[in-house]
Amino acid sequence: MIHNFNAGPSILPKQVFAQAAEAIQNYNNTGLSILEIGHRTSLFEDVMNEARSLVKELMLLDDQHEVLFLHGGASTQFMQVPMNLLNEKDTAAFADTGIWSTKAIKEARLFGNVDIVCSSKEANYSFIPKDFAVPNDAKYFHITTNNTIYGTQWQKIPSVSIPFIADMSSDILSRSIDFNAFDLIYAGAQKNIGCAGVNLVVVKNNILGKVKRTIPTIMDYRNHIKEGSMLNTPPVFAIYVSMLTLRWLKEIGGVAEVEKLNNAKAKMLYNEIDSNPLFRGTVATEDRSKMNVCFTAIDKEVESNFLEFSTKNGIVGIKGHRSSGGFRASLYNALPLESVQILVEIMSSFASKAG
Ligand SMILES: *Cc1c(COP(=O)(O)O)cnc(C)c1O
Repeated sequence: MIHNFNAGPSILPKQVFAQAAEAIQNYNNTGLSILEIGHRTSLFEDVMNEARSLVKELMLLDDQHEVLFLHGGASTQFMQVPMNLLNEKDTAAFADTGIWSTKAIKEARLFGNVDIVCSSKEANYSFIPKDFAVPNDAKYFHITTNNTIYGTQWQKIPSVSIPFIADMSSDILSRSIDFNAFDLIYAGAQKNIGCAGVNLVVVKNNILGKVKRTIPTIMDYRNHIKEGSMLNTPPVFAIYVSMLTLRWLKEIGGVAEVEKLNNAKAKMLYNEIDSNPLFRGTVATEDRSKMNVCFTAIDKEVESNFLEFSTKNGIVGIKGHRSSGGFRASLYNALPLESVQILVEIMSSFASKAG
């Protein structure tokens, strides 16, 4: 039995894999593969419409928020957001909480000015900054709600009076927050809502159309909104997998229910880390992520022994990111509680064996 703690691409519900596999052979008993139907057929339009409306429903979005499925992954949004929202002389405010924030900042600088209003860089991004002020004359404020590599997460979403943008790639739809408080949300699908190849963008209509530059057609959110997220051929299979995953999430009770499960999983694993003499958590306790649990072993030998021991016992994907080392167990929505139970048992029996 395999227990998949990969950080992304990552685990999806078993039923999604089965349904997606079936659709590749024979989509909805049409005798056709999902991969060979035109995107402008009603067969695919139904998929796109259901995916978009499931996002609206699960996130409890108001009518001013538009839902798009776009190419290019979250990294394209690092550029597309400032291209659509930031004039050359304007300033965008950023919270710098990790590598993904840093990359978003780098791209924003290509289009305008950046004001880093807070950063935890000096502490190797081991906490979420609390005391900072967002200038009212900035065009927008950008945060990364969950820092996939370091294992920190904004437990309290700040309230701001300017347009509010979030990269939610690694905790989208994992917990109940007020999604309407954001003017633009983006997330690569491959961590919590589907497979690689598509990006979810939720954008509030009234922040668009205010920059002076000419935006290339394919980069202008307004064109995608106008065309119902079908400006060009969308990544049809990736959208189909997202739709199936969103259906699954709705079936199990939506965000509120999956949040309970995610809380239980995180609590179980952090309890073990805190009580096991061989392991240590790496970030500030109050900022610990419920999606990516980062920890280290007391020394390098224990680290490599545990990696070997856990691998033998079916644990996959807990080696930490190449930039931070140690361990990272990702507990995305689709990861069952049983997998965390097994990991905790393995950590505990490893410690008893080590004496
Ligand atoms: C994985 C990740 C990204 C990058 O996503 P791509 O789809 O590979 O571009 C960006 N931000 C966060 C927070 C991530 O976890």
